[in-house]
Parts: sequence; structure tokens; C-alpha cells
Amino acid sequence: MASKTALLWLRRDLRLHDNPALAAAASADRLLPVYVVDPRRYGTATFGGADSFTFEKTGGHRVAFRCEALADLRERLRDRGSDLVVRTGEPSSVVPALAARVDADAVHVHTRPTPEERTVERRVADGLEDVPLVRRWGHTLYHPDDLPMAVDEVDDTYTPFRKRVESAATVRDPRPVPDLPTRPAVDPGTLPTPGDLGVENPSHDDRAVLDFEGGETAALERVEEYLWETDSLREYKETRNGLLGRDFSSKFSPWLNEGCLSPRRVSAEIDRYEDRRVANDSTYWLRFELRWRDFFQFQFAKHGATFFTPGGIRERDVDWMDDEAALDRWKRGETGIPFVDAAMRELNRTGYMSNRGRQNAASFLANDLRIDWRKGAAYFETRLVDYDPASNYGNWAYVAGVGNDSRNRSFDVLGQAKRYDPEAAYVTRWLPELDALPPAAAHEPWRLTPAERAEHGLELGVDYPRPMVDLEGSE
Ligand SMILES: Cc1cc2nc3c(=O)[nH]c(=O)nc-3n(C[C@H](O)[C@H](O)[C@H](O)COP(=O)(O)OP(=O)(O)OC[C@H]3O[C@@H](n4cnc5c(N)ncnc54)[C@H](O)[C@@H]3O)c2cc1C
Repeated sequence: MASKTALLWLRRDLRLHDNPALAAAASADRLLPVYVVDPRRYGTATFGGADSFTFEKTGGHRVAFRCEALADLRERLRDRGSDLVVRTGEPSSVVPALAARVDADAVHVHTRPTPEERTVERRVADGLEDVPLVRRWGHTLYHPDDLPMAVDEVDDTYTPFRKRVESAATVRDPRPVPDLPTRPAVDPGTLPTPGDLGVENPSHDDRAVLDFEGGETAALERVEEYLWETDSLREYKETRNGLLGRDFSSKFSPWLNEGCLSPRRVSAEIDRYEDRRVANDSTYWLRFELRWRDFFQFQFAKHGATFFTPGGIRERDVDWMDDEAALDRWKRGETGIPFVDAAMRELNRTGYMSNRGRQNAASFLANDLRIDWRKGAAYFETRLVDYDPASNYGNWAYVAGVGNDSRNRSFDVLGQAKRYDPEAAYVTRWLPELDALPPAAAHEPWRLTPAERAEHGLELGVDYPRPMVDLEGSE
């Protein structure tokens, strides 16, 4: 039988463990692992549709994380006698050209359910002409073939989806790292730096919950740390609404989304933890959250680009406001509502924000300011180190009332602030100008009398903004 050459086109699957496309490609006699830096993913992009607007596609924290992930993957491949070939250009020309160069019999890739990624796949498939593009699914807990329903019949609300998968679907075992075939002689090319991609390397901030380092090596270390070294999983259900600190939640999201970590690997680790340490509500709850992640992936497979419309999958007719000045204040963390501002400043400085922070910051923009939720989501797309199209736009649509829940998802931001940050430790961490105030006042500095503010050395409108809306009426 003639020997075979495979090209593995890596995208957001930057790992060797549990990588179904790699496992399939590695059965060839020669394997060329390739990553294409697509310049259209960086710099200014247009959010299409009727009210189109521009935004920065990928900000510094995610770019730096991705560059680190690529460097780590190259090293891991080199340790196994292979390499990562890196090229810059449009995948639809780069991948076919490399496939022709090594006379590839097939190109292997992981498919994604989101429209942009699907379009790129289609163009690459067209460019390859007679060489097959072999697509595999490898980024969710459940494989779509194992769901108890067809993907286009997935429930539009989470609870029935969760109940059905919990009772009738199983998670496949993660695949081991395969032996790697030899690599055809091709210049490996140079790894990109953040500067090459048009952003500055983000500066470190001591207040960050974690220094997210890209790559499979750091991902597996974080799993080890969170489950085994600090034993934090034991209390996840109680701590997961936290705002400060390394271990109130797993912080797996950046690695899951860049594909440095497989959710099935996490699930297998939870199994092991349940065997050896404890099986409790917390171990169940981490899987519960991973099912949310799956839910949005399958929702995008079902509804596609409808998610990006102003009225979302519910096709609601909402008269969203267009107020660039207000949007800008929200982005900078200068709304005058400390809980929202702290969250936005954390995002801007570190690329991360807790789930509680995201819910409140998003709800404030969509439900209190009534600004087009997609502009907020696009800003998160730029800034988040863990951005994923389905998780981000799916959650935003949900909070804005145009997604997977018909109930009003508006958050009482002031009530949430007092409940989840009773000592105002979070707001004062990110808004040191409020540090001298008693906790209740730090959440609502406008309630102090001018004399009290003067006593604490705070001048509203000078040291910290006046609130841009009156939240007293919100629920
Ligand atoms: C407006 C908004 C935007 C969001 N954008 C993103 C995004 O772009 N990327 C992203 O990964 N998550 C997003 N989330 C979901 C959630 O906030 C993050 O997954 C979580 O904060 C990441 O921290 P963690 O890994 O410590 O989470 P943990 O609490 O430890 O959860 C474990 C994992 O479960 C998954 N998960 C948890 N909650 C959700 C959820 N609501 N939806 C989908 N997956 C979930 C994540 O993969 C997470 O890493 C968003 C939530 C909101 C409200």
C-alpha cells in the first residue's frame, strides 16, 4: 500500500491530549501539523448586519495567551520528533498550498459550530479541490452523535437539555497522545509575537485573579492545582460566585476555549477525584457548568448566525439605544456604579471577569442602559482572554432577554453588589478611590451627604463619576 501523508490544520485545538483530529492524522506515515495566523482575526473588524459597527477583533490578553499556546504546542511537538509549521495568510490559500507542497492525501481539522469558523472551513475545502478535508468534532464534553436528540432538535432552554443529556448521554473517554509520524521537510516558520499581531504585550497587574499562561502545559498544571493540590473542587459549589482570588472557580475557561484543554479530560479528572477524594454537589456542579458550555455550542450549531441579530433567536423586536458616549463610559468602567465599574476595569486590566461580574456588567448595559447588547458582547470579544463566540454571544443574548430563556434576566446590580461583595473588597480592589468609604457607601457613594463625602475625601464627578442612571427603580 502506498504511504500516506496527512496535514493537520490546527485552530483552537492547541493540544496533544484528547485531540481527535490529531489521533486520526497520526495514523498516516507522514504528518504535517500546521497553524495559520489569519490577519483578519486581528485589528479592526466589522460586525455585519443592518446596524453594522466596527470593533477590535482580538485584544492583547487573548493574543498573548494564543502566542504562548502556540510556542508551547511547538515545543511539545518537537519533544516528540515533530514540529508546528506556522504561516501567515488566509487559510483558504495557505492550507491548500501546503497540502500540495507535501502531496497530502488528506487534511484533518476540528470543525466548529459558529458561522465565521464554518465559512473558513468551507473555503479551505473548496481550495483543496480533490484532497479531502476530514472534519472532526473535539471541543465539547458530549459528542453530537452521542446526544439523545439531533443537534437541530436540541432544546432551546438549558434545564430540559441538561436533564436529557444527564440521563441518556455518556462522555467519551479522552484519547491518549498518539505516537507522531515523521514530518515532511518544510520550513517551520516563525512563531508570531503580540507585536506581529498589532497589539502590545499586556502589562502585568498584581490584582489579577491568575496569570493566565497559554498552552497545554499550563492548562494541565492548572487542573492539577485546582483539583489535587489545593483541593478547591471540594467546595466549588459554595465558592463559584466569588469575585476575588485564584480558586473561587476553576479558571479553566481560557485553556478550554483555545483548545489547550479538553473538557473530556477535565471530566475524567473529576471522575478520578470522585473516586479518590470526594463525590459531592461541587463535583457535580463543575460538570453542570461544562454542560452549559456544551449547551451554547449546540445552540449555535442549531441556530447559527441568528444569534448575532439584535432580537436574537427569539426574534424580539427591541428598540435598542444607540448611545456611543454611554457605551464608552461602560467600556472604561466609568458608569458611576461601582460594582459594574470594578468588573469592567478588571476586564480591561486582566482579560478576565468572574461569571457574577459578567452577568452584572452585561445586564447593566443591556437592561439598564438599553444599549444594543451586541456592542457590549463585541467589547467582551475584544477583551476576554477566554472569549468563545458561542459562550459569549449566547450568554449575552440570554442576559439581554433575546436568547435561551424567555424570563426577564435583568439583574438588580445594587442588590447583587451587596450580596456578593458585602465588604466591598472587590470594588475597592479595582476602584481604590473608594477605599476610604464604609462598605455600603462604597457600593453607593452618591447616597452619602456632601459632608460625609468630604470627610472621606471623595468628590463625586472628580474622584469618581456620578452614576449615569438611577438604579433605584430597577429590579
Ligand atoms: C455576558 C457573559 C459572557 C460570557 N462570555 C464567555 C466567553 O466568552 N467564554 C467563556 O468561556 N465563558 C463565557 N461566559 C461564561 C462564564 O462567565 C465563564 O465561563 C466563567 O466565568 C469562566 O471562569 P471559570 O473557568 O473559572 O468558570 P467555572 O465556574 O470554573 O466553570 C467551569 C467551566 O464551565 C464553563 N462555563 C461556566 N459557566 C458557563 C456559562 N454560563 N456559559 C458557558 N460556559 C460556562 C466554562 O468553560 C468554565 O471554564 C460568559 C458569561 C456571561 C454572563
